[in-house]
Amino acid sequence: MENLYIHVPFCQKKCDYCAFYSIENSSRDLQERWLEKLKVDLEKNTHRLQQVKTLYFGGGTPTIPDPDLLEKIFRTVLAEIHLMPGAEITSEANPETITAERADILGKYVNRISMGVQSFREEKRKVLGRHPVSAEKIFPAMKNLCKAGLKNIGIDLMYAVPGETLAQWEDDLKQAVDLGVEHLSAYALTPEENTPYAIAHGLKAADDDLASDMWHTAANILAEGGMERYEISNYAKKDHEAEHNCNVWSGGTYLGLGPSATSFDGTDRWTEQADLTAWLNGAPPEWDRISRAARLREIFIMGLRTVNGWKKETFSAATGCDIWCDAEAERILKNLQGQGLIRFDTAKCCPTKTGLEFWNTIAEQLIL
Ligand code: SF4
Repeated sequence: MENLYIHVPFCQKKCDYCAFYSIENSSRDLQERWLEKLKVDLEKNTHRLQQVKTLYFGGGTPTIPDPDLLEKIFRTVLAEIHLMPGAEITSEANPETITAERADILGKYVNRISMGVQSFREEKRKVLGRHPVSAEKIFPAMKNLCKAGLKNIGIDLMYAVPGETLAQWEDDLKQAVDLGVEHLSAYALTPEENTPYAIAHGLKAADDDLASDMWHTAANILAEGGMERYEISNYAKKDHEAEHNCNVWSGGTYLGLGPSATSFDGTDRWTEQADLTAWLNGAPPEWDRISRAARLREIFIMGLRTVNGWKKETFSAATGCDIWCDAEAERILKNLQGQGLIRFDTAKCCPTKTGLEFWNTIAEQLIL
């Protein structure tokens, strides 16, 4: 495995819409116990890791620990692995935690930041139950990160939030462009079961037509700002695509450590317990074992989330297999081409713009 994901399961306060595993208000003692166990797990798994091409600290909020502990986390992980020259090292971050001191630490150990913003507008953040509701910390956080020498900064935005108009969404996008970020992920709000948001508002997603207009608008405004769409929900300036995520979409292997983290070794996928206490006590991960044929289809489908899709030879290199020789898959692909959802020939297969927007339809037809 050449890609490592570390799940830091701590947040200041849970956002109402969030279904990721994290706990709020954790003590320093608990954070230190998490790091001790992480170190043990890393040592146990070093045999799985080759030189690391991408390292990703996700969460939760990786930037929440006190600055000295934050530095210790980076040092501990980096001491256990061998990084490839030019490796991408990402940390997720929340603007409220990016003081000048933490930004300096990030500048020392990582070369890419993915910052959770969701919206610049207080009212929308309130509907989402995003904490804090005020967006005032975003600009100083960006300033601190730039001062610390970070040159590859991305943010996440959410759209299709109840009550949001197209004009308001355009304004969020323009503010993101003005902020000068290199990468942007834009996700339509999809209420997740059992979250405080779903309990308060139900599971109904926004009006399809409005959500579609917003998706198209994102591509137009971000392209004007120099960021092109390269995956359904991801946009980047040239050469600033998220390598860690591209690896996942292209069927690459990865090791995930920390509660709720997922690993994939090319055949099996397994997920650590989404429960810090159970994970600290050594509860085993859950295994997702499916047939090789189903796994190959799954990898192929994931690749069709990207604008470039698959070249015949890249799919063979990633999987050691040739889906173009699978008569049933070929029949479905021709069908999808007839529906205008993909472009498909003997050398490559990629989604059309409609196919990207309706990727679920492609996935439903191809899944085994
Ligand atoms: S959205 Fe991010 S900051 Fe909010 S609870 Fe989830 S992981 Fe934490």
